[in-house]
Amino acid sequence: MSDARDSASIQSADARRNATAIVRKLVNAGYTAYFAGGCVRDHLMGHDPLDYDIATNARPKQILELFPRAQAVGESFGVMLVQHRGYCVEIATFRTEGVYSDGRHPDSVSFSDAEHDAQRRDFTINGMFEDPLNDEVIDYVGGRADLEKRVIRGIGDPHARLREDRLRMLRAVRFAARFEFSIDADTADAIRTGAEQLQGVSRERIGQEVRRMLTNTNRAVAAWEMQYLGLDRVVLEEENMTVAPTRVGRLPDRTPYAAVLVAWLLDRHELKHPELEALRVVLAQWSGSLVFSNADYAESTRCLEVYIVLRDSWNTIGVASQKRLAASEHFPHALAVYQTLDRPGFIDVKRRVQELAETELAPTPLITGEDLIRIGLTPGPEFRRILDAVYDTQLEGGINDRDEALALAQALTNGGLES
Ligand code: ATP
Ligand code: MG
Repeated sequence: MSDARDSASIQSADARRNATAIVRKLVNAGYTAYFAGGCVRDHLMGHDPLDYDIATNARPKQILELFPRAQAVGESFGVMLVQHRGYCVEIATFRTEGVYSDGRHPDSVSFSDAEHDAQRRDFTINGMFEDPLNDEVIDYVGGRADLEKRVIRGIGDPHARLREDRLRMLRAVRFAARFEFSIDADTADAIRTGAEQLQGVSRERIGQEVRRMLTNTNRAVAAWEMQYLGLDRVVLEEENMTVAPTRVGRLPDRTPYAAVLVAWLLDRHELKHPELEALRVVLAQWSGSLVFSNADYAESTRCLEVYIVLRDSWNTIGVASQKRLAASEHFPHALAVYQTLDRPGFIDVKRRVQELAETELAPTPLITGEDLIRIGLTPGPEFRRILDAVYDTQLEGGINDRDEALALAQALTNGGLES
């Protein structure tokens, strides 16, 4: 592990050197240039940033003169992307933003200076600059003090700032959870009173923010904050709930998003509606509200289904079904979710899986469809059923070699599956 950490910090030092070289080039050409935003915050916190953003008074055309291969970034206003020695660095001209009439984007943007550029940023801890050539932090917004106090505070009037861009409400929660910071009281009030306004933000962006929050190890804090601030109503398009997301909090660190969603869904709904069908309906609603990818939806549905088996019927489903389930792709995630409900039950399941694994969970089938053709069967729906039945018997240890498997297939063909 220390090797991994060493290599991460070597890479980060390299990213920093690279970004410093870009600042130096701008400064040598007579411009002001600083590191800006998240990388300054992370550096001051002793984390190792990999992404560096640079803010400068050079205009996009002038940036292009110095970095001819720079590319304009998407729809953003003159942000240039410079690729240098394998790193991508964004260089943005200091700017001021005009009014926001759509609750998400400014109607106009104009070039300005560092101080105004700091004012347009979201939270004080994200609003600092760093001059890497003189090893100096330039802080117009009190970001350093808030880093020390471990607080997320909107720059300027939080009500106005959150009204301008409503996504900032979710960003506040994401940063607070990620760094284990509190949200300043005025900023929290602004979120609570403005929570309904999140409605105007696109469902895709909301879904992206939620995914980022819930895949972080501090995901339970994020879920809790969203509920506490009333954002869950808009995020999940259902009632505000204050039940503690304890199941989310008990998940292992590296649980995939799909399983986290299932755990949160159970936190919120299982007590009232424990049946699979009811939970599946909620999951389908969430899938729309959070704009799940097809994979998210398939994985979370499967995870929920396997969880329900673990909760309700694992001990009665028989060896073949237990083996099939234990060998399935989503089993570990469903088990991680189950573990948040019933720790002793979880330990029993783990023990049972170990036992089952002694005779292989997913051995190669003794016979295939070709064998069935050879014994005179025509491919059809019957095929699958016979193969499944033979494989189940194999999993249960009822047959041990090809000959026994073929004999069983023959018997099933002659006698029908019912017998
Ligand atoms: P992360 O490590 O999550 O990328 P970050 O602080 O770099 O954190 P970004 O979303 O990459 O966050 O944005 C870079 C900077 O741009 C922020 O630090 C902040 O100063 C500013 N910023 C980003 N989004 C907004 C926003 N919606 N409103 C105001 N300022 C923003
Ligand atoms: Mg960033």
